[in-house]
Amino acid sequence: MATINANFNKLASGYLFPEIARRTALWQKRNPTLNVMRLGIGNTTEALPQAVRAAMKEKIDKLGDRRTYTGYGDEQGDTYLREAMVEYYKRWGVTLESTEFFISDGAKSDAANIQQIFGEENIVAVQDPAYPVYVDSNVVGGRSGFYNTERGQYDGFVYLTTSEEGNFIPTPPNEKVDLIYLCNPNNPTGAVANHREVKAFVDYAIANKAVIIYDSAYSEYITEEGYPRSIYEVEGAKECAIEISSFSKFSGFTGVRLGWTIVPHQLVCENAEAGILNGLWNRRQCTFFNGASNISQSGGYAALFNEGYEESRALVEYYLGNAKIIRDGLTSLGLTVYGGTNSPYIWAKTPGGMDSWEFFDLLLERCHVVVTPGGGFGPAGKNFVRFSSYGHREDIERAIESVKEHAGI
Ligand SMILES: *Cc1c(COP(=O)(O)O)cnc(C)c1O
Repeated sequence: MATINANFNKLASGYLFPEIARRTALWQKRNPTLNVMRLGIGNTTEALPQAVRAAMKEKIDKLGDRRTYTGYGDEQGDTYLREAMVEYYKRWGVTLESTEFFISDGAKSDAANIQQIFGEENIVAVQDPAYPVYVDSNVVGGRSGFYNTERGQYDGFVYLTTSEEGNFIPTPPNEKVDLIYLCNPNNPTGAVANHREVKAFVDYAIANKAVIIYDSAYSEYITEEGYPRSIYEVEGAKECAIEISSFSKFSGFTGVRLGWTIVPHQLVCENAEAGILNGLWNRRQCTFFNGASNISQSGGYAALFNEGYEESRALVEYYLGNAKIIRDGLTSLGLTVYGGTNSPYIWAKTPGGMDSWEFFDLLLERCHVVVTPGGGFGPAGKNFVRFSSYGHREDIERAIESVKEHAGI
C-alpha cells in the first residue's frame, strides 16, 4: 500500500503566484480589451548578453562534432567553471577552493535540496517575510508542525520578523536554532544587511553551532559600499555558512538555468567536523544530480569576465534604472517605499493600512498593474506589496504612469 509524503498536506494552500495568476486571469476575462501590466513576478526580460550567447553557440557546435562532443560532465560542475568561480569571488576579497563550489541548475533547487543533508530534528529559522522555498522545503522535509492559519505561520519554525522600524533587516533569534535562512539582498523586501548586521548572524551561528544558508542571488545588485557581496567576506563565515547563488538575476539566466552552492571545507555543525558537510553535499549531488547543462556552463563562464561581465553588469544597471523609476513614481504619490537601490525589488507600504491583497486588487482594477502582495511572503508583509523592476523600460514607465494617474491614493 503506497502512501504519500503526508508533509505535503501541511503546506498552506494557495501558493502565492498561482493565486496572483488566478486573480489576473479573472480580471482579464472581465476586461478582454485591456492590457495587464506586470510588475509582479521576478522574471528577467532583457536579452541575454552577446558574449554569453556566443559562448553557448560555440559549445553547441562542439557538441555537433564527435571529436569535440562531450556527454555527462562532473556532477559538481566542470572544473574550468569552478576554477573561474574562485577567480570571480576574489573580486570581493573572498578566497575559496574550487572543490568548495557545486555548480547546479539554479539556486532555487539548491535552496530546496540543501536541507536534505541536515537532520530532521533541526530547528529552522526563517525571515518573515521570506522567499517561499526555504519554508516549504523544510515543511516537506518534516521540520515543521502544521500551518497555523491564525498566525499565518507554521508551528515549529522560528520566524525572524522584520519590520519598518528595523529597515527590514533581521536580527539573530533569542532562542537556540540550528538552520538559519538568510537572503541578502532580500527578496521580497529589497533590504540589504551590512557587514555588521551579517556578522551578528555569523557570531550567533558559531556560538550555537548553527548553520546559515545564505542566498546571495542578488549580490550583483549591491551598488553601495559597506554591504557584503558574499557571506564569506565576514570573518568566521566559512565555519558556519553555506552560500547559494545564481546567474539568473545577474546575467539573465532565468530560462537558461545555472547556479551554484558553496559548502566550505571548514564548515562544521554539532556532529560533523570540518569536511563532513562538504562531503555530504558532494554525495548528495553525485547521487541525485547529473550536473548542470554543459551549454549553460559555457555561457556562465563567459558571464564572469571581460565583455560578458560588462554586459551582465549593464543588465543589472538597466533593471536598477527601472527600480529607480518605480521608487520615484511611488514616492511622488506619497507612498512609503523600501528597497530598489541595492535590489531589483521595491517594497511599498499600502496606503491607509490596507491589506496587501486588497491593494493588489485596487492596482489591478484601477491601474491594470499586477504586483505581488506582501502577505504571500509571510504575515510581516501583510501591509506591503512588492514591485519588481524586471520588465522592458517602456512597460515599467507605462505601468508607473498608470499607477500615478489612476490609483487615486
Ligand atoms: C530568483 C531567485 C533565485 C534564483 O533562482 P534560480 O533557480 O537560480 O533561477 C534564488 N533566490 C531568490 C531569493 C530568488 O529570488
